[in-house]
Amino acid sequence: MLLASVAVPVPLGQAFTYRVLPEHANQCRRGLRVVCELGRRKVIGVVLQVADREPEVPVEKLKPLGRLVESEPALPEELLDFLIELSRYYLAPIGEVLRLALPAVERTEGHQESLLGTKARLVGKVLKQVTRVEPCPSGVKTPKGQAVEILASLALGPALMRDLEQQFKNARAVVTRLQAQGFVSITSTTELKNAFFDRPATPDTPPALTTAQREAVDALTSALESSTRSAFLLHGVTASGKTEVYLHAVKRCVELGRGAIVLVPEIALTPQLVGRFRARLGDAIAVVHSALGDAERHQMWKSLRLGQVRVAVGARSALFAPVDNLGLICVDEEHDSSFKQEEGVRYQARDMALWRAHRVGGVCVLGSATPSLTSEALVDRGILTKLVLPTRARQAAVLPTIEIVDLRRNKEGPTGDRLLTLPLVRALEQVVEAREQAILFLNRRGFSPALLCGSCGEIARCPDCSISLTVHRTRRPRVVCHTCDYHAPVPTRCPSCKSGELEEEGAGTERIEAALIQLFPTAKVGRLDRDVAAGAKSEAILERMRRREIDLLVGTQMVTKGHDLPDVTLVGVLDADAALSMPDYRAAERAFQLLVQVAGRAGRGDKPGRVVVQTRQPESPIIRCALRHDVQAFLEHETAQRRELEYPPYSRLALVRFEGLDENLVASEATRIARLTKLGLGGSVQLSGPAPAPIARIRSRFRYRFLLKSAERQRLRETLLKIQRTEVDRRVRVIIDVDPMNML
Ligand SMILES: [Zn+2]
Ligand SMILES: [Zn+2]
Repeated sequence: MLLASVAVPVPLGQAFTYRVLPEHANQCRRGLRVVCELGRRKVIGVVLQVADREPEVPVEKLKPLGRLVESEPALPEELLDFLIELSRYYLAPIGEVLRLALPAVERTEGHQESLLGTKARLVGKVLKQVTRVEPCPSGVKTPKGQAVEILASLALGPALMRDLEQQFKNARAVVTRLQAQGFVSITSTTELKNAFFDRPATPDTPPALTTAQREAVDALTSALESSTRSAFLLHGVTASGKTEVYLHAVKRCVELGRGAIVLVPEIALTPQLVGRFRARLGDAIAVVHSALGDAERHQMWKSLRLGQVRVAVGARSALFAPVDNLGLICVDEEHDSSFKQEEGVRYQARDMALWRAHRVGGVCVLGSATPSLTSEALVDRGILTKLVLPTRARQAAVLPTIEIVDLRRNKEGPTGDRLLTLPLVRALEQVVEAREQAILFLNRRGFSPALLCGSCGEIARCPDCSISLTVHRTRRPRVVCHTCDYHAPVPTRCPSCKSGELEEEGAGTERIEAALIQLFPTAKVGRLDRDVAAGAKSEAILERMRRREIDLLVGTQMVTKGHDLPDVTLVGVLDADAALSMPDYRAAERAFQLLVQVAGRAGRGDKPGRVVVQTRQPESPIIRCALRHDVQAFLEHETAQRRELEYPPYSRLALVRFEGLDENLVASEATRIARLTKLGLGGSVQLSGPAPAPIARIRSRFRYRFLLKSAERQRLRETLLKIQRTEVDRRVRVIIDVDPMNML
């Protein structure tokens, strides 16, 4: 009997078996989407396997497979196999894993249309009419006045009518006349509304490569040309031109007839970055971004699947792009924690990129100014080949000087804010005087991170989480929980002793912004954090910075990532200790990466840069290494520590979390499972815990966890499979996180 095993996009571990009807027997194959019954619902599933075999259950219990949605598989064989492997590795439900690879439109029942069929049913609002103006080679008459200016602006390539109307008075009338005279052609097309493709791309001329860039490009292209399965770590200092290396490799890969994926951290995926790829590769790229609507995502997915477009650029989830004949995956800023998904399927896109590229016999490049210890260990084991870009790409640009300000000895400056020390204020004064720009980094948004009772010492806490509330002042004053977004008016009396002596302790970005405005009345002060810039808005703030509409920018982690702002000559790290004190074995690594990355924002143009790092631990080896830009020394120091403590990359970890509303039940289930697990532990697996998580309660749910550690991946996996099969009280949710990054 012909049976199909089908994964449906629901969080269930197993695939379901269906009977294949005789009329479908010839067409039914792997990767096809099919309509199938799940309970009483009809859902769209994906065929994982078709086999002629004896069913394990009586035939009458097997449901027949419904309609086949298409004749060509939605998921190519290679991608389907990769997803199955990924689901096994992370012990994640196969249905959930498939969701990662299929855009929402493709997963819904009622989506009547086949992949290779007619035009997509796109939602009306994302389509819009745009009018393009293109220059024509010759005209009969000589244009005059404004027409000349408009033609000059078109010399570089086509433009959108609305952009011309913004730049030139009466543009539409002038352009219409130019069309009549044969200078330009005006076309009206329907395009997807998409920030990444809003403007036509102007082809650029590749800059001359430095010797190191040339060597890196040669290594990559020769691997691509000889179809050698290989993986590289591209270690380039900040502003060394890593993107240029990816661009060359991707271009060569496409010329060779293969496809490529470029993964960048979510926050770095900006229209500016996409613009660079379009300038070099033309519009034959797809952008995969969480901010895209369903219809746009579907469009991108479809053009990749049909092979109309061969390059996918995107954040984490672009790993699953259905790129045809995949040959290359680049992971930029490979150390970035946003490559780890922290909900649903908890996968690490960097690790999986290496794997997918390996499976297709392709090339994988991981790039960073501050390589992760994981990647460094892979270099030591000969799995990654290291390519180094030791200098900044522009001749004039040298690495900035870094100065330490000891927060224990330096008192606050004129505003009375402890984090605006006198040396820092002096440095800012010089920047303002020289009309240059500065970035101040503080990884705490809001006005003040704690509201403390001066009488009894209580700190105001979120009613639903074990987290202190942050005071926000902008717009209306309120206290906010940064974990669950609970908010309330700022209390005037202490909830426990009713005293009115409430003090706002410490400073967040809002407070620093306010202090800077007061301190430098002539300077333009801006702020960049999640409160002012959700999603695409951050790009608008950075654009204002580029146009010099902001002189001093204060912000959270958002200011540290990959931005190229040539006039920034000063970077201030207000509180370097915050990152160092995280309860996490990776705290040192993360703090170091943060310091080097934020310092890398300074002095990218012609003027030398300067970095001021404020800390209470100036003798910390992490800060000392950052001070000398000595990535290698840091890696050696940290590697020794990890080896000693047997932490990754010298062992494998898995975190088993328990969550529920009833604290006693959560604790007792965690204890019971931990005890059972310990009984069956093989020699090489260690269990620590159970214990309450560092954040013991989030959204009213209590959180316990234990940690498993082993040098042997297989042993760890067997242990986890046993845990997964153990019955747990239904009121407690068990989450298994393989290779965890977030230990909170
Ligand atoms: Zn009190
Ligand atoms: Zn909360």
